[in-house]
Amino acid sequence: MQLQEMNRSDSNITEVDVTVVGSGFAGTIAAMCLKQMGYSVAVIERGKHPRFSIGESSTPIADMILRTLSESYNLPFLKTMSRYGTWQKHHPDVVCGLKRGFSYYPHKKGEWFESNAGHENELLVAASFDDENSDTNWLRSDTDHFLAKKVVELGVELWEESEVTSAERENGNWNLHYQKGGKTFSIQSKWIIDATGSSHFSNTFFGANSSPDGFETNSSAVFTHFENAGHWLDYLTQNEFNTNDYPYNPDHSALHQLIEEGWIWMLRFNNDRLSVGIVTDHNSHVINEELAQYWNEIISQYPSVEKIFDNAQLTPVPGRFIHSGRLQRKLNKSYGDGWFALSHTYGFVDPLHSTGIAYSLCGVERILSQFKQRKFSNSENIISQDKLDKELRLIDKIVSSSYLSRPHFKLFGASVMLYFITSIRYEQSRLRGEIPDTFLCAGDSDLIAIVEETHSDIKKWNRSGRDPQAAESLISVIRKRIAPYNPVGLMDPAKKNMYSHTAIEL
Ligand SMILES: Cc1cc2nc3c(=O)[nH]c(=O)nc-3n(C[C@H](O)[C@H](O)[C@H](O)COP(=O)(O)OP(=O)(O)OC[C@H]3O[C@@H](n4cnc5c(N)ncnc54)[C@H](O)[C@@H]3O)c2cc1C
Repeated sequence: MQLQEMNRSDSNITEVDVTVVGSGFAGTIAAMCLKQMGYSVAVIERGKHPRFSIGESSTPIADMILRTLSESYNLPFLKTMSRYGTWQKHHPDVVCGLKRGFSYYPHKKGEWFESNAGHENELLVAASFDDENSDTNWLRSDTDHFLAKKVVELGVELWEESEVTSAERENGNWNLHYQKGGKTFSIQSKWIIDATGSSHFSNTFFGANSSPDGFETNSSAVFTHFENAGHWLDYLTQNEFNTNDYPYNPDHSALHQLIEEGWIWMLRFNNDRLSVGIVTDHNSHVINEELAQYWNEIISQYPSVEKIFDNAQLTPVPGRFIHSGRLQRKLNKSYGDGWFALSHTYGFVDPLHSTGIAYSLCGVERILSQFKQRKFSNSENIISQDKLDKELRLIDKIVSSSYLSRPHFKLFGASVMLYFITSIRYEQSRLRGEIPDTFLCAGDSDLIAIVEETHSDIKKWNRSGRDPQAAESLISVIRKRIAPYNPVGLMDPAKKNMYSHTAIEL
């Protein structure tokens, strides 16, 4: 469907309070909430919906924020998006996938996947009790298109296929020029929100610099979408693995296949499309080949994974493999005179543990609260940037711990619990009606100390020969450390790596 853009003549200068640059889910949601607050808003988008976009697996935290935004800004469809069941009921045409939790399976080069009755090489962590209330894999082309249509329905001006060519600040206003179809248009606005999801715009127009410095994680991704890919559960049952006590079907989850070079994500949608990406740990492996060849070379070394792709074809869109380049990046400023960068524009760590959507929505919620309370002072902005830094640092430490522990799957499983305890802590606070001021409670010093200490221990273990016995001792230490934050029995050996529910009463 074509988005209806408002009619305008070349000579028009649009005057609005806020210009949002970028209409991904964060930009569109921010624009709609601002509009509901009474601000006049314009959105400028370089592409045209529906367009391919990566970053698809949602989490309970993202769902909770969507529900709060829905109520706070009277946008009921955001609530329906927050649970798989309601989304299916109200918007079955917007393609998505059921996501019951996070599943992890380690693979060794040249060997078929192996496990045992105790599920030692499997880890399944359910977030929700049932399909109805579960998370969702968002087919971003559909989701973002849906949101963009809602933006237009609300009366927000959305300019697609538009490229900003200049932005000058004068007398407390931005004079912004953009090109569309070979013509130049102007917008005058008080604020610009950079929702482009990358550093380029803030670098070009606000002089903010992006750098990967300081991140422990060092990775990049090669990704695409497939159709007709086999189901992992079929592979497991056909090969007589015991899946009777699985809390859910792993094809209905964020499926992680751990490989020696890094890991592979598999996110399935209801139309049998599969989002797949190989994420490589650059501390041990670098990509320097042609991408399709690289994909084939990696996959062919892991026979059980390769099996899934026996009959698979690339989907027409994107129809190719895409290389992200190094994923870690952070701007040196998140705000300036009359401008703000949203979270994913400010920085990113890695897709491992699917923090992106929730982290982005957390930042949207915070910026909206600034606009709601008209808190634009320098000190407010400094505090806000400090929070973003804490969040990125925490995510980095959690993700890096998982990369470093990958050679020992049980230790990897323990490292993953760092993500779950911080998520649970955050979710429980929200359930009590307290909105934590940082994503994953990145401002909670006791929790941070656990993550930092564990990261440091895992780093030492990794550097000093990866001794299996030392790994076992470290696992016991981690179990004790997380105990005060573990109301759901994580790392309980009796559960045999099968966790049926971690998000409490969501
Ligand atoms: C490889 C990879 C995998 C990921 N996987 C996950 C995952 O599984 N789960 C998860 O939660 N998160 C994931 N993420 C993170 C997720 O992609 C982001 O959190 C999310 O996309 C942020 O949304 P956004 O709207 O801020 O930015 P984006 O989705 O990047 O949207 C930005 C929009 O701005 C537009 N734009 C860009 N430049 C300009 C410009 N100059 N002018 C106008 N418009 C412009 C773009 O066309 C786009 O429409 C992943 C990220 C990567 C890189």
